[in-house]
Amino acid sequence: MYDPLVVGVSAGLSAAAVAGLAAGGCAYAAMWPASQLFGRTLIAPARPGELALTFDDGPNPAWTPRLLEVLASHDVRATFFLVGRYAQAEPALVRRIVAAGHLIGNHSWSHPNLAFAAAGRVEEELTRTSQTLEQIAGAPVGYFRPPFGGRRPEVLRAARRLGMAPVLWNAMTSDWSEPSADRVTEKLAATIERMERRGRAANIVLHDGSHLDMAANRGPSVAAAGQLMARYQGSHRFVTVDAWGG
Ligand SMILES: [Zn+2]
Repeated sequence: MYDPLVVGVSAGLSAAAVAGLAAGGCAYAAMWPASQLFGRTLIAPARPGELALTFDDGPNPAWTPRLLEVLASHDVRATFFLVGRYAQAEPALVRRIVAAGHLIGNHSWSHPNLAFAAAGRVEEELTRTSQTLEQIAGAPVGYFRPPFGGRRPEVLRAARRLGMAPVLWNAMTSDWSEPSADRVTEKLAATIERMERRGRAANIVLHDGSHLDMAANRGPSVAAAGQLMARYQGSHRFVTVDAWGG
């Protein structure tokens, strides 16, 4: 049943929600990270002071190893939502992530927007990725983040059927296109502190890879992760998303 830790639990579609969907609210329900209209997702619990660093679109042979060094230097564990086909190409790197104590999750096989994918494709994207990650890491995968946050009820049901909790986020900036690590850090810090004023933990997204370009520069994202750890380590607790249930 519903986990009391989850933000914005929706026990069903209200009349207003149905009217909103009919009027074009589908885009909101399918893409907006905080929407619960298409099913329950894990975002961040009412635990101000807890921070989950999550990294999407890896593993990436250029940036993930650098990120692992930065995380190790701060003795912080993070959550990595891995693209299945990249994991298949870099199994040793996946094992290194797991061996360092980080949590890995499913971020689909090829990073399509699953809000618009046929049911068979959704199933294949999720199943193939979980099987690949489980073969490499030797443990079940319990968390799934939809690419672009794109979803509809079938996507969330497929994830649950495969034993995964769908995870969205509440702190993101366009780190993938921002050349300044300082600006990434400042924007995320502003969001983290806004969430804290609302009594919430922060579920922070950064990218250690790219679904479009393996050679994309993720230096600012990795550096921003280091800056956030340095800034908050004394006053906050860094957790992996499994600390928040599912
Ligand atoms: Zn992604």
